[in-house]
Amino acid sequence: MTEIEQRRRSLSERLTELKVDALLVSSPANVRYLTGYAGSNGLLLLTKTEAHFFTDPRYAIEASEKISCKVHIEKKALLIGASAVIKRKRLKKIGFESSWLRFEDYSKLKEELTLGVVLHPIGRVIEEQRMVKSPSEIALIRRSVITNSAAYEKTIRRVHAGAREMDIAAELDYQMRALGAEKAAFETIVASGTRTALPHAHPTAHRLGENELLLIDMGACQEGYASDMTRVAHTGTPSKRILKIYKAVLEAQLASVASVKAGVTTGEVDAAARNVLKRHELDRAFVHSTGHGLGLEIHEPPRIARKDKTMLRAGMAITIEPGAYIDGVGGIRIEDTVLVTENGCEMLTQTPKDFTEI
Ligand code: ZN
Ligand code: ZN
Repeated sequence: MTEIEQRRRSLSERLTELKVDALLVSSPANVRYLTGYAGSNGLLLLTKTEAHFFTDPRYAIEASEKISCKVHIEKKALLIGASAVIKRKRLKKIGFESSWLRFEDYSKLKEELTLGVVLHPIGRVIEEQRMVKSPSEIALIRRSVITNSAAYEKTIRRVHAGAREMDIAAELDYQMRALGAEKAAFETIVASGTRTALPHAHPTAHRLGENELLLIDMGACQEGYASDMTRVAHTGTPSKRILKIYKAVLEAQLASVASVKAGVTTGEVDAAARNVLKRHELDRAFVHSTGHGLGLEIHEPPRIARKDKTMLRAGMAITIEPGAYIDGVGGIRIEDTVLVTENGCEMLTQTPKDFTEI
């Protein structure tokens, strides 16, 4: 049995407990996780004993060669094909992903299905299964992290005052692809000067000044798997205030990384960062959560957030990314991707966390 078949079996075994006869999987990441299909139009219907995969004729060859489900090539909407199987197999209660099935599709499905068939929202059951990564997934995340760091290092050594944020972002994206990523895992963030105080700044035509802060938050997507890293650099001499913030955020990040371990809650990992920033009177400047899981998606459970009770387990891949942002001054964030282990964590990101001078 392949790993993908094993994932489907684990999920099938939960259908009774979820009180459904079948699951209709429409999230692209979940479809990929359960079938290996990486295209843009796929749908999975999983029963206790069978897996039906639906796609359109553009993917017919790929699907028949690579997907070990019963493959249905649909000329009409995929949901019509799925409804036909539901009716033929006399399935009565169908679980669906409420955050992924569009209302339009839900309505169409209701119309297609005969009376007596119930559609039942199942929440993020598959995302929960995806939280703990297998060795082969960890190997892919590791590779994505290496590509991401190499793209950063190749780019940062050529960045100089006068460069536009958007050109730096384009170079980072180019390097990621040249090094083997299929794309950036999210829109690369490059912010300079006081714009670094915007945690999710889009790169602009602003040119990096002679005495400015530079924040880069980037991630690669390689063979479907994401990485995520934030580093800060500066031109000239950073002000005492910025330097103080940098030291406090670094201390918070290291404390948070040190707290990661199987059995610890994500809320405790968040508190480790937040407590350090509080000591430096920067807790109110830390406006987001400490981190997130990543894998087939850049943001996936667990959330490393205030008071969150999710227990860390060995094999989870998460980010640790505290920051402090002060309007009119600037912002610092330091982010790594780490792998949770029984006794602590393995730091996957190898790029030094220095306040790089350029
Ligand atoms: Zn990031
Ligand atoms: Zn992140």
